[in-house]
Parts: sequence; C-alpha cells; structure tokens
Amino acid sequence: MTRCILVVGAGIGGLTAAIALVNRGADVEIIEKYPESVVYGVGLCQPGNALRAIKDIGLLDECYANGLASDFTEWRRASGSLIAKTPHSRLADPTRPAYNNIGRPALQNILLKEARRLGLKPRMGITADQIETEGDGVNVTFSDGSHGQYDLVIGADGIRSQTRRILFGEQFEPVYTGHAVWRIAMPRADGVDNNMIYFGNGKKAGLIPLSDGKMYFWVVVNRPGNKRIPKEDFLNEARKDFSGFGGIVKGVADTITDDTKIVYSPIEEVVMPLPWSKGRVVLIGDAAHASGPHLGQGAAMAMEDAVVASELFASSIPIDQAITKFEQRRFPRAKFIQDETRLMGERGQMSGRIKCFIRNHLILPAVLPRSTEAIEKKIGEPI
Ligand SMILES: Cc1cc2nc3c(=O)[nH]c(=O)nc-3n(C[C@H](O)[C@H](O)[C@H](O)COP(=O)(O)OP(=O)(O)OC[C@H]3O[C@@H](n4cnc5c(N)ncnc54)[C@H](O)[C@@H]3O)c2cc1C
Repeated sequence: MTRCILVVGAGIGGLTAAIALVNRGADVEIIEKYPESVVYGVGLCQPGNALRAIKDIGLLDECYANGLASDFTEWRRASGSLIAKTPHSRLADPTRPAYNNIGRPALQNILLKEARRLGLKPRMGITADQIETEGDGVNVTFSDGSHGQYDLVIGADGIRSQTRRILFGEQFEPVYTGHAVWRIAMPRADGVDNNMIYFGNGKKAGLIPLSDGKMYFWVVVNRPGNKRIPKEDFLNEARKDFSGFGGIVKGVADTITDDTKIVYSPIEEVVMPLPWSKGRVVLIGDAAHASGPHLGQGAAMAMEDAVVASELFASSIPIDQAITKFEQRRFPRAKFIQDETRLMGERGQMSGRIKCFIRNHLILPAVLPRSTEAIEKKIGEPI
C-alpha cells in the first residue's frame, strides 16, 4: 500500500526527503511556512557524504555544474602561513572531486525544480498548527484552516521547528554556543582555489570559492552573552572582527564597504536525546540536531536523514518500527558530528596570544591531519 506522508518545511532536508520518498514510491505532500522560497545565508560546502546523498536523488551533475569542487582544505595561521593541507574522500564518485561548494539559492533552485518535475507542488505560506497521532494515522490542521490525514508526518522545519514544539514543548530550544558568524558573498580573490581556514586569536576566518567569479568569506568570533548588533553598526563591528588576519584574508577584509551585504548570525545548536519522534511524527535535520558550522556538516546530515527516512518510510516495514530504526541509524552519526563540531569550534575560538601561538605552531600541525582523517573515515561509513 502506498504511504501518504506530509513533509513540513521545504528547505534542504525537507525537499531532499520529499524527492527521495517520491522516488521510492510514497505519496508525498510538502508545506513551507514562507510564501516564497527564502534562503538565508550565502554558500554551503557539500562534503562527500552530502554529495553521496545528492547522488541518491539524482542531482549530482546539477550540483557540480552549479558549484565549485575541490579535494582539499587548507588550514592556515592568522598570518597566512600554511599549517596543513588535508585531503577529503571522494564518496559520491571516485572520478570527481571530493566536495562541492554551492550558493544556497542555487541549491534551493535545484531541489525545488526537481520536486516540481516529480509532480510535487509545495504548498507555500502555510504551517501545520495541530498535529495529532490517532490510531494508524496523523490528523493535521493547517494555518489556512484546511485539514489532512497522513500515515506519517516528517518535521523538517529547521532549527526553530514548530513541529518539535508541538511534540515536546520548549524542552529542546536552540542553545547559543557563545560564537557568532559574519558571512559575505564577494568576488573570488586570486589564490582561493579550495576551502581555506585561518586560525586567529579568538576568531577564525574562512574563504570558500563558490564559482569561477564568486566566493564566500566568513569570520567566526567569540561573542559571550549574544549581544545584539544593530544593522547600522554592522560595518564597524565587522571591521573590528576582521582585523588581525594577514594573507588573502587581509586583502579581502580591506575591500568591505558600506555597500557590502553582510549577514550576521549567532551560532546555536539543538541537542536532543532520542526519541526524535512522538506517535507517527518524526523530526529530521536541524529540527532534531542542529549543529554549528565549524565542520560544514549540518546540511549534509539533514540530507543523509532524508535518504535514510525515504528508505525506511517508503518501505513495507511497519511505521512504528521504521521510526525506531530511523532514530537508531541516525542518532550516533548526528551526535558524532555535533561533538566534533563543538571540538572544532573550541579549537578555533581559542583566545590569548601565547595559547594561540602554541595551538598554531605545535598542536594544530600534529592534530589537524589526524583528526580530519578520522572525520573523513567516519563520514565515509555507509549510512
Ligand atoms: C553559518 C552557517 C554555515 C553553514 N555552513 C554549512 C555548510 O557549509 N555545509 C553544511 O552541510 N551545512 C552548513 N550549515 C548548516 C545548514 O545550513 C543546516 O544544517 C541545514 O540548512 C539544515 O537543513 P534543514 O532542512 O534541517 O533546515 P532548513 O534548511 O533551515 O530548512 C527548514 C525549512 O522549513 C521552513 N519552516 C520553518 N518553520 C516552518 C513551519 N512552522 N512550517 C513550515 N515550514 C517551516 C523554513 O522556512 C525552511 O524552508 C551552516 C549553518 C550555518 C548557521
């Protein structure tokens, strides 16, 4: 019997889940809170495991064609000198580069186009305000007053998930990590051919090439207390936070002007033990396990969740068992990424001149090649 599944949230995880479920024979509806697809942020790194999930839904060529791919990350000191250049694993296709960087709007368009090609018609500007499991089904009341009945509901509505709140109240709200990030899209600087991460004093900068002409520049800073920064102060505050770097970062930071479009976001995480579900409603992606950006793995985890969800929920396994299997397969992996992300965040945000000197000259040269290899090995495991 074909299962009827509602996906809440047409973001990265929700669209991937909807596409993968339709491909595996489910009958899917998808809703999105905003009237139009609004994409926050600038660019996204798609590591090997994200590309493997993208391949599952048949969109690998589109992603490579719209992004910039490479096999390495360069880790540098604030001065610009090289600490290590570490390789990534080719998980999706051994003949193509290991990771791909892509603009967020480009990825959203690729996913939406594929969803529509498969006959999905995302209902935009609508939320699921009441979700109640009754017997073998879930009754949903939408914000426009309409109702629906489904075999299963997947909450893919992101870090501030309304679905999570309906299931668990305010128990698992996002927690501020003490760090915030500046992000800017800009013309690609000479020499930025792969991801470059710079370790500064209490801050970390990144240069991420997105296409031949574009790149994405970010700086993560320590911001205890999550002080709000008014928009009119962005330029001044950003300039202060961008100081202290040499190499390409200095040149890039010096080009920022009044007209530069700057995005500033506090970094938060959602730490939730199992279950990620109640009745026949299950959370995926950031709704269940949002992590900071330090490993560039959040969207990759959401896409992996989506693929595993489609394998289990479109199968003939009874839904209760499928939900338990889903949680058991996904929890250890999501926890690994959250823990490693936190560790990388702490390493990168270390402050104090002597401590940072020791980190940059003694610790990172020894630790980075080993720890990145271990992470690559883990993300390369089958999901
Ligand atoms: C600074 C930064 C950099 C990052 N860089 C990377 C990176 O390089 N690589 C990587 O893999 N990850 C990265 N991430 C993480 C990544 O952005 C997220 O993990 C990913 O977007 C999660 O996907 P999702 O589908 O769970 O949620 P989202 O992409 O947030 O999608 C949720 C969707 O649900 C919709 N929605 C919200 N509420 C409702 C509601 N009540 N009803 C219906 N719809 C709703 C939203 O509008 C949205 O469309 C980064 C994150 C940050 C903050």
